[in-house]
Amino acid sequence: DVLLSDGIDFSSLLLSQPVQDGLIASGFQKPSPIQLKAIPLGRCGLDLIVQAKSGTGKTCVFATIALDSLVAENMTTQVLVLAPTREIAVQIHSVVMAIGSAMEGLECHVFIGGTPVSQDKSRRIKQLIELGFLSTASIRLFVLDEADKLLEEGSFQDQINWIYSSLPANKQMLALSATYPESLAQHLSRYMRDPTFVRLNPTDPGLIGLKQYYRVVKSHPLPHKVFEEKVQQLFELFAKVPFNQALVFSNLHTRAQHLADILTAKGLPAVCISGGLSQDQRLEAMSKLKQYQCRVLISTDLTSRGIDADKVNLVINLDVPQDWETYMHRIGRAGRFGTHGLAVTYCCHGEEENKMMAIAQKCRLSLSLLPDPVPSGLM
Ligand code: ADP
Ligand code: MG
Repeated sequence: DVLLSDGIDFSSLLLSQPVQDGLIASGFQKPSPIQLKAIPLGRCGLDLIVQAKSGTGKTCVFATIALDSLVAENMTTQVLVLAPTREIAVQIHSVVMAIGSAMEGLECHVFIGGTPVSQDKSRRIKQLIELGFLSTASIRLFVLDEADKLLEEGSFQDQINWIYSSLPANKQMLALSATYPESLAQHLSRYMRDPTFVRLNPTDPGLIGLKQYYRVVKSHPLPHKVFEEKVQQLFELFAKVPFNQALVFSNLHTRAQHLADILTAKGLPAVCISGGLSQDQRLEAMSKLKQYQCRVLISTDLTSRGIDADKVNLVINLDVPQDWETYMHRIGRAGRFGTHGLAVTYCCHGEEENKMMAIAQKCRLSLSLLPDPVPSGLM
């Protein structure tokens, strides 16, 4: 596997025995390059900014550092992890419990808003601390997963500032992200004094197994005509490419639901996930994807980050995403951990096509036109 470091396994990282056992039990035998670089530095207690492409195993980086640093006798909260979406939080919980499966008495809880139990509404970290339900006195590690998203303008900045200032001064901090915009550097400098950067070269394998294509469709003054045309082309692709599971991104959530209905009616079980749904519906859609009860998940950007479903090997952009970071996050949903995958973006002739070209240039992508008709050996 291109992503695994030859000859070095987790045992050479000098982790505690239960953590090593947990890693093996989770199916992690050898560290990925980012894990190999970041875990030892994290274990030294350094503040880290870890930047590596999607699917390179960043969750395991902070989960391992966190679990290995726990003091078993101390039965209070020692680690706090923040993530930008509920789905990511749920995923992190399961990775922590898997890697921590050999640690007796380990507790890890997810606090997300919006679940039907009314009391859960208050289960957000800030409220928990304010109400005195979460004691921060023993927290020694503070993790921001998808830090760029967490600290983006108008998102969670205020809450994070507040939470940060309620934590003990003497703590370690980890920030992880796939992209590292200038604004993130500024925000993080408020929290971390002298952080160590852990990065992989852009040429390092990440999305190496992912082939990227785009297809230009005729533009039309009526948006729904364009949508119909793109959906038509999507059917051709689904018929020709032997994919396991696919993620389809739409910029509009009303269209996402409509498309899910059309696909399901045509015999391809599809579900839709978007910020417009209730928490229950979102969790249900995710679990359908992971349990292979649907072949296609249609999503908006509200739910595009951090989704990790290992059978997804086809990502479709029904519309060109708003910026290159979003593009990278979306296509990163396939080709996880160096596996093979395909990403196809549909764009209208003209403005949308130009936007796509700008993204390709910015990310230095090797992007090809999708052959017409779609050949069968594409995947
Ligand atoms: P990121 O947060 O960097 O986008 P994830 O932490 O979600 O990536 O991991 C991507 C996938 O790689 C997951 O399915 C995970 O189980 C797998 N993975 C991570 N580390 C390893 C490893 N050392 N060995 C095998 N699989 C791994
Ligand atoms: Mg991640």
